[in-house]
Amino acid sequence: MHDDRKLVEARLKRVLDERIRPAVHPDSVPLEVAVWHAPGEPVPVGEGLAAAPEPIAPGAAWGAPWGTSWFTVTGAVPAEWAGRTVEALLDLGFDENMPGFQCEGLVYRPDGSPVKGLNPRNQWVRVGSPVEGGERVRLHIEAASNPVILGVPPFQPTHLGDKETAGAAPLYRLGRMDLAVFDETVWQLVMDLEVLGELMAELPADGTRRWELLRALERALDAVDLQDVNGTAAAARAELTGVLSSPAVPSAHRISAVGHAHIDSAWLWPLRETVRKVARTASNMTALLEDEPDFVFAMSQAQQWAWIKEHRPEVWAKVVKAVATGRFVPAGGMWVESDTNMPGSEAMARQFVHGKRFFIDEFGIDNEEVWLPDTFGFAAGLPQIIKAAGSKRLLTQKISWSRTNTFPHHTFLWEGIDGTRIFTHFPPVDTYNCSMSGRELAHAERNFKDKGSARHSLAPTGWGDGGGGTTREMVAKAARLRDLEGSPAVTWEPPADFFAKAEAEYPNPPVWVGELYLELHRATLTSQAKTKQGNRRSESLLREAELWAATAAVRTGAPYPYEQLDRIWKTVLLHQFHDILPGSSIAWVHREARRTYEAVAAELNGIIDTAQRALAGTGDRELVFNGAPHARHGVPGGGARSVSGVRWTEVRERDGGGFVLENDLLRVEIDARGLVVSAYDLTAGRETLAAGQAANLLQLHPDFPNQWDAWDVDEFYRNTVTDLVTADEVSLDGDGVRVRRSFGSSSVTQVLTLDGGRLDILTEVDWHETEKFLKLAFPLDVRADRYASESQYGHTFRATHTNTSWEAAKFEACNHRFVHVEEPGWGVALVNDSTYGHDITRAVGGSGTTTTVRVSLLRAPRFPDPETDQGVHRFRHALVPGATIGDAVREGYFINLPVRQVPGTASAEVEPLITVDDDAVVVTAVKLADDESGDVIVRFHESRGGRARATLTPSFPVAEVVATDLLERPTGEGALTLSLRPFELVTLRLKRA
Ligand SMILES: [Zn+2]
Repeated sequence: MHDDRKLVEARLKRVLDERIRPAVHPDSVPLEVAVWHAPGEPVPVGEGLAAAPEPIAPGAAWGAPWGTSWFTVTGAVPAEWAGRTVEALLDLGFDENMPGFQCEGLVYRPDGSPVKGLNPRNQWVRVGSPVEGGERVRLHIEAASNPVILGVPPFQPTHLGDKETAGAAPLYRLGRMDLAVFDETVWQLVMDLEVLGELMAELPADGTRRWELLRALERALDAVDLQDVNGTAAAARAELTGVLSSPAVPSAHRISAVGHAHIDSAWLWPLRETVRKVARTASNMTALLEDEPDFVFAMSQAQQWAWIKEHRPEVWAKVVKAVATGRFVPAGGMWVESDTNMPGSEAMARQFVHGKRFFIDEFGIDNEEVWLPDTFGFAAGLPQIIKAAGSKRLLTQKISWSRTNTFPHHTFLWEGIDGTRIFTHFPPVDTYNCSMSGRELAHAERNFKDKGSARHSLAPTGWGDGGGGTTREMVAKAARLRDLEGSPAVTWEPPADFFAKAEAEYPNPPVWVGELYLELHRATLTSQAKTKQGNRRSESLLREAELWAATAAVRTGAPYPYEQLDRIWKTVLLHQFHDILPGSSIAWVHREARRTYEAVAAELNGIIDTAQRALAGTGDRELVFNGAPHARHGVPGGGARSVSGVRWTEVRERDGGGFVLENDLLRVEIDARGLVVSAYDLTAGRETLAAGQAANLLQLHPDFPNQWDAWDVDEFYRNTVTDLVTADEVSLDGDGVRVRRSFGSSSVTQVLTLDGGRLDILTEVDWHETEKFLKLAFPLDVRADRYASESQYGHTFRATHTNTSWEAAKFEACNHRFVHVEEPGWGVALVNDSTYGHDITRAVGGSGTTTTVRVSLLRAPRFPDPETDQGVHRFRHALVPGATIGDAVREGYFINLPVRQVPGTASAEVEPLITVDDDAVVVTAVKLADDESGDVIVRFHESRGGRARATLTPSFPVAEVVATDLLERPTGEGALTLSLRPFELVTLRLKRA
């Protein structure tokens, strides 16, 4: 037989595009349209409905950037349409090539009840089926003219990303606004042809099934009268029933489709717009659930649910009803889909506490699946936190974005730093916006690494970020793919049902140990430094606020600010969202974040101050409060004392220029260039720095990645570097040394001081560079094959060498408060008060192998915020020669938690609520229980990666000790003397006697 395959395939495409799809809505009449442009920020629904609109015609320009326009559409169903299905087609000026990220609308009835959202691929509103004819139609559309930030070509700098700089020129032209007949038979024919055509394209060209599909499609096209598609669609469908009813082969891959809309809590739009995006999508999904009995939708991020509840009660009522059916499913159990590299231990834990508690309180649902499809890598501390929150499974697809190495599993056990293993699934469809296309499903099956042992994978299905979620077309396709020869078999189901099947079929999955490092987006550890600093400060202040407020409550009966702390925690957790803390949002988001963090700091300092004053009493004797877990200057961790500190540093001029700083532990030489050329550990009798090299060296690199400017730094940035060695000034400043430099359009001032065995460096940069990367380097005379970075409730090791592509790909990585390198018996820590990115490399010089630690200070990408990081920044770092891991942990806390001096009565001394007799065991939280019982909650962990046996001593009467999970729910009997395994995390509830 002659091979006419390409001819038939081309015919299918043209006839579908030009004749069949247009026949879905064969008859239409225009609606009358009027519009009112809200003058500023979005207005309440009632105000939008009550406004007096002006007429507007299709084709007219509308929509200033970030504006809100209320359209009113009115009309009447023609009498001759009686008995037919009628829809309103409302095109705000959508670009269907981009399923979100542009203008959007939410349709209301005149009484203010929401109907559904309008999105680029979801422009219809059902008017009636069947209609009587003559019905009056009146609908209102709250339309948001959000600008396209990520357009074609991508990653171009734009000032549209902030309302203050976006201008007022209208962005959109109103499209078709019609009443139209909906021909369901033609629409079903489109679905048949798309499913079979897409499946055919994925089958082997020499396979029987492919040719059977081709011939059936050809017969269907023959049956279509191109002048009367509507009259012949049923006959065309009849030609396809045979191939559509042929069942999937027994070994077919099984796909659990989960309706989803990945909605970034802020990204290329501000937080306030996400509130509306979520309402539009939830409206679409509750409507779709009513129409489609098999469909299941999952929505993550408790914050987004809370927004609906607070801001759109009419949508919330529908959501609550849909949740009760079991088909609108809370997913994830976190407050937001956060970054997991940078959030500190307690913050990571509270993501789960507040997320899970919301779903438990509102719906009685305690879900066990962590849902993080888009997060930029996963810290190895996370498995233990997931387990301690009472969850046990994780889903992400993001690691498929890695550019160097292909991850070897899709279903596996992920083992964290303490040995906790979490059942983990990476959807092999490699997207969180699956559209049920044949190409995606075939990719999922081909890509699935665990085939042979496992057969199930999950496909998050629907458009996110303003795409409106799952469409009726995706549901129609899934119905045809339930059991279809040649295709994976598709079933709608909640994430929990998928995981149950996946676990059951795969009793011994492979194990991946350690972090899930994303080989991309490494610059998110540095971009938008003030957002990162705001996060770190807030985390430290929250620790102090809980600690001192709990201490004051137990000691003095002062009220504990439950509601205030709950609200502030949720604010900080929201800002850990995976485009805010990583610095990848528009200027508007980061401008607001800076202001929010300032307000958070003011409020928390107020709580701390009130508590400390209550504890200190009245008087003028200085009391020193130590909020860190370890004792310092004679003040116990979590306590306060009067101290008369004796600290000294000898400062003298250095031969050859510069200065020497010396105390009883450390001698540091700073040369005439302001560089540290020696840091001598007097206790160990050992030089810290690599011979002939200088530390505290600022290095400037060009930094223009191939794409994703705020997200990415590409490895070639290292090829070019400028060492900033010229100083404008090197002078004494009290008992420290001040160094000033200028470079490009920027300047930097550093102050170097000694604090015990630590060299402290305060760096103030007035940063006005573009597309540059600023690093601070410390070449160390340490031979180390690996180094430790602090992570949640412990630390993780990475290689200093690049033997394999996996190690080479980690050329920029995350730490919390410290990195640590060591030879047996002697090590060095570098601690920081607010930076996360770093790189650590090895070199061989005259004296042997050395290790260079470099801290990432600032970048200056121009997309999506063209002014990223411009202005003044302050960072504090400290070099700690002779440090063990335990010292690194302690100094990391100290640099983030400066002591506070409060005047009080002469006799006042504050005993810590809890004392621990082993410094390896670190208390991360002391607080009153969230249930307001007055019980004291204490959380602690083994911090050095070894065994510890510790006794906790409360300084208040305790009636009972109960072990709990992170949500403070009892898990068993607690004890005050206990053995901890490496990095083990424990939460105890101490009931007060
Ligand atoms: Zn995202």
